[in-house]
Amino acid sequence: MRHLPFILSPSKGFFYFLVSGKLSKRVLLEQGVKMKIVEPKVFLVGETKINEDGLAAYLSHLGVPDWVSNAQSDSEKLIEVMGRLCYRSFQPGLNKNVTKIREDNREYLQNIIKVKHGSVIEHTVVNFVFADVSRVFTHELVRHKAGTAVSQESLRFVRLDDLGFWPPTVVRENPEFMEICCKTFEELEKLQLELARIMELDKSGKPFHEKKVITSAMRRIAPDGLATTIGWSANMRAIRHTIEMRTDPGAEEEIRLVFSKVAEIMIRKYPNLFADYTVEVVAGLPWYKTENRKV
Ligand SMILES: Cc1cc2nc3c(=O)[nH]c(=O)nc-3n(C[C@H](O)[C@H](O)[C@H](O)COP(=O)(O)OP(=O)(O)OC[C@H]3O[C@@H](n4cnc5c(N)ncnc54)[C@H](O)[C@@H]3O)c2cc1C
Repeated sequence: MRHLPFILSPSKGFFYFLVSGKLSKRVLLEQGVKMKIVEPKVFLVGETKINEDGLAAYLSHLGVPDWVSNAQSDSEKLIEVMGRLCYRSFQPGLNKNVTKIREDNREYLQNIIKVKHGSVIEHTVVNFVFADVSRVFTHELVRHKAGTAVSQESLRFVRLDDLGFWPPTVVRENPEFMEICCKTFEELEKLQLELARIMELDKSGKPFHEKKVITSAMRRIAPDGLATTIGWSANMRAIRHTIEMRTDPGAEEEIRLVFSKVAEIMIRKYPNLFADYTVEVVAGLPWYKTENRKV
């Protein structure tokens, strides 16, 4: 992957530790500058689960207690159920207008996607935490509003005394650019600590409200590239759209990196829902494509 190798530049006097192909926590510069280098991380922390008793009761109510699906996940099965209930297409003849049905879950879901019956795939959700991502990334992510929920680490409350930084490729490939970033981050971190001292943030008995006001003012001199955390939940329709938009080569590198990880997880866990995706590597990152964009 293009985003993993780093230039070693002993002549410039700074070097990076690589551990198993990934950066270590710290990059040391010859001037003694310390810099916390991070890599954006994607955690799948939740997903839709079927209430099997409730589903069995509904299927009995409908007269098809023996209906089964070959779906590989609860999400894919539930979407199939929600789709089939529209036409009562659980078995031929249940609705006299329906004489044949697609029995295979993959075939069924892919047809839903092909005919752009996108509302059906809104029924199930996944919950992610994106950690060690920049505010550059989070600003872009929150533009995706439809079908999503967001909880962002509050820099009004959380002290910025340990600034992490993910350097984009163009930074990593240019030692001088990297050096300026490292020095700037170190300086800004020092200023946060200095302001905390001046404003006596750690003085015992300091009211929480005052700390909040001061911390919020201090974040105004924090860099956009600082590592932070955001929780992001989305339904399947929104996830597909966001993967398509944000792994596109026209998107910014960090969001491409994060959504390539999201896409990899989604395709592994929900193969039938994403069976129409193909992948091409552009600029070192995967671009997930489909003929069925924005279903
Ligand atoms: C490469 C790239 C460059 C970008 N550059 C900029 C930039 O320079 N400046 C900037 O401000 N933004 C920029 N954006 C953000 C972009 O304009 C969108 O805000 C963002 O991608 C969210 O996508 P979306 O509009 O599809 O919204 P989503 O919330 O993901 O919505 C999904 C779909 O639902 C429908 N929808 C959502 N909300 C509404 C609504 N209110 N009314 C009607 N239909 C709706 C639309 O069909 C929409 O496409 C950029 C995005 C990309 C990918």
